[in-house]
Amino acid sequence: MTSHRKTLRTAAELAEHGLVRPQDAAALDAVAARYAVAVTPAIAALIDRSDPDDPIARQFLPDPAELDTADEERPDPIGDDAMSPVEGVVHRYPDRVLLKLVHVCPVYCRFCFRRAMVGPGGRPTLSPKKIAAALDYVRGHREIFEVILTGGDPLILAPDKLAAVVQALGAIAHVKVVRVHTRVPVAVPEAITAALVEALKIPGKATYVVLHANHPRELTENARDACGRLIDAGIPMLSQSVLLRGVNDDDKTLAELMRSFVAARIKPYYLHHGDLAPGTGHLRTTLAEGQALMRRLRGRVSGLAQPTYVLDLPGGAGKVPVGPTHAVPVGGCEPGGPAHWEIEDLQGRTHTYPPGPEDADPAPEEDWDGRESES
Ligand SMILES: *Cc1c(COP(=O)(O)O)cnc(C)c1O
Repeated sequence: MTSHRKTLRTAAELAEHGLVRPQDAAALDAVAARYAVAVTPAIAALIDRSDPDDPIARQFLPDPAELDTADEERPDPIGDDAMSPVEGVVHRYPDRVLLKLVHVCPVYCRFCFRRAMVGPGGRPTLSPKKIAAALDYVRGHREIFEVILTGGDPLILAPDKLAAVVQALGAIAHVKVVRVHTRVPVAVPEAITAALVEALKIPGKATYVVLHANHPRELTENARDACGRLIDAGIPMLSQSVLLRGVNDDDKTLAELMRSFVAARIKPYYLHHGDLAPGTGHLRTTLAEGQALMRRLRGRVSGLAQPTYVLDLPGGAGKVPVGPTHAVPVGGCEPGGPAHWEIEDLQGRTHTYPPGPEDADPAPEEDWDGRESES
């Protein structure tokens, strides 16, 4: 492998660094022409070139399968555009808005739900005039408690540009929380500089940073240090991951990912079901698979390590937790609720709640899945 300091963006560059086969370059150029490609040095260093199924490669290297768009897939899978009152703002939930300052990222995920809008050929970065209009919108809507900077990756901005927006938001009395969604601590850990951390802090208000990572190997020492600089500055961190076929859709990897977050002082927040973004079917699981994984995760690892499994409904209806459900109502529906419930415990046994006189306490099992050692 050749070391490099710049981001790789073409199939030829990826081939030159041993990440794809030279004979595949032409086919991959067709993919790159449609959906942006970028692999930073930190990400390239994580890819195991000897593993044809490498979970990091699957997330970032283009694949000819991306050119197959299924009928149910769509360019704006979660309906952002229908909820955009001014350019760059998405206002779907009453108390919070998205503010999309940029439509570029340091790396491009092959499953990105905004893949039709992001990239060097995508939508432009918001001009100062448009940023001012977006800030006016937030100022004019007193129900907005929280502003979420997303994009594109907002931490790609220079610290002074970012500070100007963050501090302007902080100066709005009804905005109490600024949240930043990013992949930079993993993709470009050295970009989390003291100046960037300073840009995010708002005196008297809360800034949260949500890290997007999908495989435990992404949480390298450099990435953990970058997160540590944010957290040590008083910025709490949460995680979001996308459930991806061949990346994290097995018990061991998912548990290790969530534990890695917790060990790095990052609280797991969301596990997203794969959105219906165009050309991403090969990376999507079924909801049933996701629920089964979540059920087993609940039985195996700390409560701290449990994300909420969510689906962002196509068309713009929003994010909904999709289980699994452990409690099922049974019997007649009285005014106060159903007669009783059937609750499935983590060993898969059903309990009646509240218990009737005939329901004996089930004997505890000596050894169940959740207590098995990991290694
Ligand atoms: C995901 C999303 C949010 C944030 O949702 P939370 O559940 O608060 O994390 C806000 N607005 C829009 C439009 C979103 O898509």
